[in-house]
Order: sequence, then C-alpha cells, then structure tokens
Amino acid sequence: MAEKPRFYDAAVSRIVSLTDTVKHFVIDYPKDADTRFIAGQFMMVHLQKDGQPHKKPYSIASSPSLDHQIELCIKLVEGGFVSTWFFNLKEGDVLRTSLPYGVFTLREPWEENLVFVGTGTGIAPLRGMIQNLYEKGCAKEIWLIFGNRYETDILYLDEWRELEKRHKNFHFIPTVSRGKNWNGETAYVQDVVKKLFAGKTAGLDFYGCGLVPMCKALKETLIGMNIPREKIHFEQFT
Ligand SMILES: Cc1cc2nc3c(=O)[nH]c(=O)nc-3n(C[C@H](O)[C@H](O)[C@H](O)COP(=O)(O)OP(=O)(O)OC[C@H]3O[C@@H](n4cnc5c(N)ncnc54)[C@H](O)[C@@H]3O)c2cc1C
Repeated sequence: MAEKPRFYDAAVSRIVSLTDTVKHFVIDYPKDADTRFIAGQFMMVHLQKDGQPHKKPYSIASSPSLDHQIELCIKLVEGGFVSTWFFNLKEGDVLRTSLPYGVFTLREPWEENLVFVGTGTGIAPLRGMIQNLYEKGCAKEIWLIFGNRYETDILYLDEWRELEKRHKNFHFIPTVSRGKNWNGETAYVQDVVKKLFAGKTAGLDFYGCGLVPMCKALKETLIGMNIPREKIHFEQFT
C-alpha cells in the first residue's frame, strides 16, 4: 500500500542555475521532519492559485541518504504557473510540500543490469536512483542514455563525467539532436537504445523518464525489442 504523504514547510537553502531555463533547488527540512522516501519518488508543492489550493508534482533529484534535505531540478515552462513561481524563489524562501509519492522506484535486489533513459529534466529521478545505487555499492552494469537538444542542455554533465571516471560499470551516453559542435550521438534516445541493445536485451531492466511523447516512443521501441513489460519502468512528466 502507498505510504501516507507527510506535509512539511521547508526552506530553499540553495539555488543553482543549470541552464537558462533549468534550476537546481536544495530544500532543507526541519530536523524533526520524516523525509523518508525511495529514490525515484516525487514530492508535491502546494500553492494557492486564484484563491484555490493548487499542487504540482516534482521528482526528487537526490538520494534519500541526504540528511533532511532534498534536491529538485525544475524547468521553466513558458506561461507555467508553478515553474514560474519556482523561478522567482530566493534562497531562504519557504515552501509547503508533501512527500513521498509514486511507484517509479528501483526494483531491489538488483538482479539485472540497469539502463536509465531520460530527456531534459526527466533526469531528476534517475539522478537520485543512480546516486543511491552507488552509495549501496551496486556492481551491476549501469547505462545512462540522456537526450537533449543542445550540448549546453546536458544537466549535471560534470557529475556524469566524474561517475564515469570513478566507476568502470557506469556508461554515460549523451545524445544531442541539434548540437552545433557535437561529435557524439545525435539520434533520439529510443533509437540509441535500439542501436545499443537490440538482440542483447537479456538481463536488463529499463527505467525511463521524460515528457509523454518521449516515454511513448521509448515504450514502443522496448516492446518492439521484445523486452518483457515487467522490465520496463516509467515516470511520465505530464
Ligand atoms: C510525476 C511527475 C514528476 C515531475 N517532475 C518534474 C521535475 O522533476 N522537473 C520538472 O521541471 N517538471 C516535473 N514535472 C512537471 C511539473 O509537475 C509541471 O507540470 C511543470 O513544472 C509545469 O507546471 P506549471 O504550473 O509551471 O505549468 P502549467 O501552468 O500547468 O502549464 C502551462 C502550459 O505549459 C504546458 N506544459 C506543462 N508542462 C510542460 C513541460 N514540462 N514542458 C513543456 N510544456 C509544458 C502545459 O500544457 C500548459 O499549456 C513532473 C510531472 C509529474 C507528473
């Protein structure tokens, strides 16, 4: 049964601009708050809109191991009410939140190698999951296929490069569809998945996250590759 969400006011302790339209937020909770969640889950932020309660889900972009802290990775949507509100926040501001929600979590114990596929801020829950896997000493092969339009859009690039250096079992495959000086992959994420894994899908678990069209295309590709449905896990940003 789903865990009952817990409501807390929490303070923004740090804001980092990752690109012109994406910010990373570090949120500090009171020390007596029960902030337990499973890597990959999401929280809700609660606001008022036109005098009415209004809430929106945001994936937790960090590992549950942080001490009363969560991180978020939020894209500014043109004309978007809550994302614009987030972009106007300052360090020290307080937000009303509830957590945890969602079933997009790692299947444990890890019997299979893991393939993570994300586009844009869909990287958020995958980042929390991958951090958590390495904290727990996961020795399975891990691929991260991360799709973006431009090379400057690749969120947390330094972290992925650092993980690649530290862990031989981590394979980072960025793909950029409209790159200007880009020599790497240019195909859509689902086509990269097909290229890498067609005919070699045994012993793989797939975790995908992004906007609905990307998730739909990826799901169709994976099913077309005869991956059993129980090996396919998704979070769709609607
Ligand atoms: C489980 C879950 C987890 C999510 N996690 C994240 C996350 O980690 N980071 C994140 O940035 N977002 C995430 N989202 C999306 C987020 O909840 C909001 O939908 C998004 O921030 C837009 O809200 P808004 O109030 O600013 O826009 P709204 O005022 O609701 O929408 C304004 C307009 O923008 C369109 N729109 C809405 N979302 C998008 C989008 N993402 N891209 C392009 N157009 C859009 C709408 O159709 C509408 O026309 C998640 C969604 C779900 C369901």
